[in-house]
Amino acid sequence: MKKKQLIPFCLPLMICFISISNPSYPQNQENKIVNKHMIKPNIFLIPDYGCNVIVIVGQEGLLIVDSGYKRFSMKLDSVISDISNLPRKYILNTHFHVDHVSGNKKISDGTADIIAHDNARKRMLSEWNVPDVQGRNVRVIPPYPEDFLADICLNDSLVLFFNNDNIQAIHFTDAHTDTDVVYYIRKANVMLAGDLFFSNGFPIIDIYYGGTIDGCMKAIDKILDICDSNTLIIPGHGMPSNRRGLVLYRNMLSESISRIHKLMEQGKTLKQVIDSDPLGDIYEGDSSWVPEDVFIHTVFNDLSGK
Ligand SMILES: [Zn+2]
Repeated sequence: MKKKQLIPFCLPLMICFISISNPSYPQNQENKIVNKHMIKPNIFLIPDYGCNVIVIVGQEGLLIVDSGYKRFSMKLDSVISDISNLPRKYILNTHFHVDHVSGNKKISDGTADIIAHDNARKRMLSEWNVPDVQGRNVRVIPPYPEDFLADICLNDSLVLFFNNDNIQAIHFTDAHTDTDVVYYIRKANVMLAGDLFFSNGFPIIDIYYGGTIDGCMKAIDKILDICDSNTLIIPGHGMPSNRRGLVLYRNMLSESISRIHKLMEQGKTLKQVIDSDPLGDIYEGDSSWVPEDVFIHTVFNDLSGK
């Protein structure tokens, strides 16, 4: 594969993702985040079990945001126990995708109440089955048994008082999916953005389960309205970031979408758009976690109403 040059637009983006990370962030030799990290007093990030998992230690127990993949849940369980053996009070889900919820049963430990959007519970009662993407086989996820599902469902918003802080849950109707909830920990000034933000490349947008490009952009704008320059923003995947990182991410999305749209207006087919490599200068080589052709496939299908 030819070495791709970064355009000036994305250079600050990449620098930003590096420089805005907590400087004390522990990293192993593969430059991967290790195990768990305290991002604020009593708030921990566990990054390597499918998605970014957050643990808040309160006086009476633990509040955990997302539960990763089921296949990693034994290990995640022991990392959480290592943080604290206090009872688990709440599991909050950011949306219904398998990499965020399939550890729910194990991580809730029979004690925690699972909280998610109403649509997440509904979606998890049926199988998740999307068409293959650019020749990649997408695994069908069967319906979940009752003990993986939310005990408490929210609709538009919810405020949860925990650990002398208040956590504001806000739903977005048609963004990454139609089940998205972001959690803003007000006093600690930490925004848990779920998959409305990927700090490691192009996003996945689940257009088959209520997600839209337009809804994603609107959701990001709303998150930016809530955050200030000191807010720590935790994406669903990738390194911790901040408001400036999210602004750059929004700019990257907007630029990418407009390039794809321009080619579509010229009458190009999906294959022709992908072959012309319109986003090849945005992330070098395979540095985006989600490959360029997968993202183009999503944007093309969404904009053409498929
Ligand atoms: Zn997702």
